[in-house]
Amino acid sequence: MFQVNENYLKLPGSYLFSAIGKKVSVYSQANPDKKVIRLGIGDVTQPLAPAIIEAMHQAVDEMGKAETFRGYGPDLGYGFLREEIAKKDYQDRGCQIDSDEIFVSDGAKSDCGNIQEIFSQDSRVAVCDPVYPVYVDSNVMAGRTGDYDEKAGVWSKVIYMPCTAENHFVPKPPKEERPDLIYLCNPNNPTGTTLNRDQLKVWVDYARQVGAVILYDGAYEAYISDSDVPHSIYEIPGARSCAIEFRSFSKNAGFTGVRLGFTVIPKDLKCGRVSVHGLWARRHGTKFNGAPYIVQKAAMAVYSEQGRAQLKEQVAYYMNNAKVIRDGLESGGYQVYGGVNAPYIWLKTPDGMSSWDFFDWLLERANVVGTPGSGFGPSGEGYFRLTAFGTYENTVEAIERIKGLRRP
Ligand code: PLP
Repeated sequence: MFQVNENYLKLPGSYLFSAIGKKVSVYSQANPDKKVIRLGIGDVTQPLAPAIIEAMHQAVDEMGKAETFRGYGPDLGYGFLREEIAKKDYQDRGCQIDSDEIFVSDGAKSDCGNIQEIFSQDSRVAVCDPVYPVYVDSNVMAGRTGDYDEKAGVWSKVIYMPCTAENHFVPKPPKEERPDLIYLCNPNNPTGTTLNRDQLKVWVDYARQVGAVILYDGAYEAYISDSDVPHSIYEIPGARSCAIEFRSFSKNAGFTGVRLGFTVIPKDLKCGRVSVHGLWARRHGTKFNGAPYIVQKAAMAVYSEQGRAQLKEQVAYYMNNAKVIRDGLESGGYQVYGGVNAPYIWLKTPDGMSSWDFFDWLLERANVVGTPGSGFGPSGEGYFRLTAFGTYENTVEAIERIKGLRRP
């Protein structure tokens, strides 16, 4: 009889967003006259920018002519895009990254989920708590996380680094336990908070000292406005030998449905004499057949002058929503974090309410959907995430409704 990968059976039941979806659908069916506003899932709502659409149309036309048709592309990405990324995202910012250190993919989720494959089964994993669930779940699937303690909501072999208001959402390098793989997300999902250059340097120094790799997720880089928040981990000296960076076109260019991202692995990142870059190239070449030509051409428009201007406006639109949420909640007496360098607002639930109780209360009283903080890890209990990715009109309406409620 065949056997399944039993690690999958260890994954706790329902994924956070399907649990939310079910609750919202039950509520909507019972209350069809109510307009529910969703500020829960981190999906964009603005259409693709004109410069991107134009680039896509041109690429589609090329595909329709024999002379310019393209079949399989290079599995690590087209040279034109890898060069553009290396120059505009890194070299122009003073980071020493070459185009052949860029691996183009279909998005950051795949890369963050798959990267663990090239590391030893025995690797100890450290994550911030709360955390983007993909980092933990992909290690569960690989059998690296030990047993799940349902009551505490933690895996026995995972090192959790609490990030709460008490420590200003800055994770502390573990002292007693020694991690091999350290996941950092900056700007952070879900808390919307950031590590500045000095705080990130602590991590780079620590990783080099203990011989760990930092898996750095920069999916929200486009939302950084403060000058002391680094746009890449490679702004920190020494990061080339200890960090892998993931980036996405989902949130800076609205590619959540188009799909494109990339991973940076500097050639200096080595385990003894083994190049991690070489392993990922081998993995990518075996399991991935390249991102679509049309999409990679569309991404070129992200870096054009016109595209940049249009996307800057889009980011500003979402960040204006973030301000509406922040200011509105603050004036309503809520304690609010994030939302300055990130499209997420992390609020403290009032009067010690649990995250899920607050979810139900908000859904029923204001018909607004957010995400319970406990869904991102035990230290998320007592917090709640709202996203700035809705339309302006819906965001304003949602916040007015919340402000109008008598606090529980
Ligand atoms: N990383 C983080 C922290 C995210 O929040 C998300 C999506 O919400 C992703 C990665 C996924 O990005 P992509 O759409 O490129 O797969």
